[in-house]
Amino acid sequence: MVRAYNNEETKGAVMQECKEFEPFLSTRPKEKIRTIPRCKECGLPRILPLLFNWRDEGVITLRWFATEFRFVFLYQELLDLILAFLEDTFGKEEVDKLTHEAEKGSASEYIAMIVLGDKLWLKPISLLIRYTKLINIFLEISSPLFGYGAIQVIEHGVPYAVAYIRNPYRLSMFRADGDGVYEVSKERRMKMEVIEISAEEQVYYFAGKTPDKGRIPNLFHIYRVQPAPIHGAATPLDVPRCPRCRLPRPLGNYVWDERMGIILNKLSGRRMILWPDYALQELLKTFEEALGDRARQIIFDITKQFWIDLITSKGIGFSEEEQLAFLEASVQKRYAIILNQIAYQGLGRASRVEIEESPYRVRIELINPTTPTIISGILAGTFEALEEKEVEVDMEQGETSVVYFLTEKKRANKPRRMREVS
Ligand SMILES: [Zn+2]
Repeated sequence: MVRAYNNEETKGAVMQECKEFEPFLSTRPKEKIRTIPRCKECGLPRILPLLFNWRDEGVITLRWFATEFRFVFLYQELLDLILAFLEDTFGKEEVDKLTHEAEKGSASEYIAMIVLGDKLWLKPISLLIRYTKLINIFLEISSPLFGYGAIQVIEHGVPYAVAYIRNPYRLSMFRADGDGVYEVSKERRMKMEVIEISAEEQVYYFAGKTPDKGRIPNLFHIYRVQPAPIHGAATPLDVPRCPRCRLPRPLGNYVWDERMGIILNKLSGRRMILWPDYALQELLKTFEEALGDRARQIIFDITKQFWIDLITSKGIGFSEEEQLAFLEASVQKRYAIILNQIAYQGLGRASRVEIEESPYRVRIELINPTTPTIISGILAGTFEALEEKEVEVDMEQGETSVVYFLTEKKRANKPRRMREVS
């Protein structure tokens, strides 16, 4: 990336557009990357179990301060597919605007939860983090830890903020993250610009200047959220854990590459991101409110198709032994294997799976499911991949759980479908 930056043509273009940021942009990116120490037993970053709690309830929560604030593992590709389809349907500008607002709120909220905690005894720590270089170290470590990209903070002050980034998980969202973080740490508004160094190599600068002379106290409080309560599970999750760090064993197949700033599922080769559940909910809610039922249908359809492809292409990320066990398992056990996987990804825990004959119906009871549109899509895709039938999804919202009923789609739709094909 240094090569790309040193290219005179690129450099000229960058400078012309961004005279104002010139002093920061001539800063040569550091070659040294902050490395993350690993668990000796499973190889996962040691900081993970210190920051997060992988709970038997099928949720990943912050371990400190805001212990009900959830995170979920998402396939980067699924997020890209959803946003690409929404852009095609509703226009890039509209989708970017909605994404930016929803994501900025989530990023602010997450940073506020982690560094401020809103508790009096935390004040000294929060001041230390906000007004020293600690915030930069924190950001440089957490961005690759969440799979959002590798960043190096060049300037994080008033009025300028500039960072250098490789492999941002999504440009528009990363920009929103940057704005949100700044608004919490400096209590001033921010609107960053993206300066491309090399799109091919996924290297960019993010640079911005706050218009505010003074602090706007509690600016980020407009984003305040109350996470939904987490319901308890009666039994431990059926997933082996590392004896040393207690992280779920299968997570060992995710490779945290801090140099690239990405998390890679080494069995499927797919990039993962660890995202606030709240961000996912907020994003989908924003789209559904602004764009109506059609947005929900698009998101459902894409998630369903993505999960069918995951399961049928082995891309879901099974080791060879797991793949063999999966093929030999009963249909009910196969559901359980897939549902266990979504549980350690933080998407919710299946407390019961039942298969009812005549009429054939799969009944799945979930506690703490993430966004209904995504969960329905995942379950529908699982049904279609395992049963090789078109699915119909019904759900019933209980007090502490949600029950999904998966059945074969009524025959009435079949002839129409066949006509379309021929
Ligand atoms: Zn371990």
